[in-house]
Amino acid sequence: MNTTSIKKIIMDKGIQPSHHRIKIYEYLLNHHTHPTVDMIYKEISKEIPTLSRTTVYNTLSIFLEKGLISSITIDENEVRYDYNTTPHAHFKCIKCGNIYDIPLDTKLFKKKTIKGHKIIEQHIYFKGICKNCLKKMQS
Ligand SMILES: [Zn+2]
Ligand SMILES: [Zn+2]
Repeated sequence: MNTTSIKKIIMDKGIQPSHHRIKIYEYLLNHHTHPTVDMIYKEISKEIPTLSRTTVYNTLSIFLEKGLISSITIDENEVRYDYNTTPHAHFKCIKCGNIYDIPLDTKLFKKKTIKGHKIIEQHIYFKGICKNCLKKMQS
């Protein structure tokens, strides 16, 4: 995706498309690894040395607030960010820490209520050992 398209997506959400914001969103679009603030900061600051960790954090907060991205908290003290805002589940590997997208029964995600309870947020995740780590363990 080119910068113009990225700029448009950001602006459509009512966010001012500053250079930093474009770079951060572009990173999420190109890295479907569900990165943390630190991962994003480390990578982008190589290119933009003036970037601060706070700016990355604040930018992600605005993106979240405006519904441009989503976040996942599988482990209490680790927030990971996701360009994908459509409902899907996640699988976290306890060996390598990678998070994989898992498509899930959309009927379940479309529910507004469940057993009479009103749904506000949906977080569905699995934990285990990913196929790459399984392969390494076998060899
Ligand atoms: Zn793994
Ligand atoms: Zn995801």
